[in-house]
Amino acid sequence: MSELTTSHTKCKCTACGHHFKSTAAFDKHRTGSHGVDRRCMDEIEMLAHKMARNVGGYWVTSLFVGESYWSK
Ligand SMILES: [Zn+2]
Repeated sequence: MSELTTSHTKCKCTACGHHFKSTAAFDKHRTGSHGVDRRCMDEIEMLAHKMARNVGGYWVTSLFVGESYWSK
């Protein structure tokens, strides 16, 4: 797989290392309360929350709301 990049919308989580297509997707993978048990969801949890990885390798909030599998 080619190296994933970041941009003004795409981001990489420094905690878990996953790449996200949008800040919304990034926010969605963070769970728990700030200062208490804030953490990243793992892949199983993200999939359980209907998140998915697009063909470019970036996690998206959903493949069905404003995102297509083929969008990069
Ligand atoms: Zn993370």
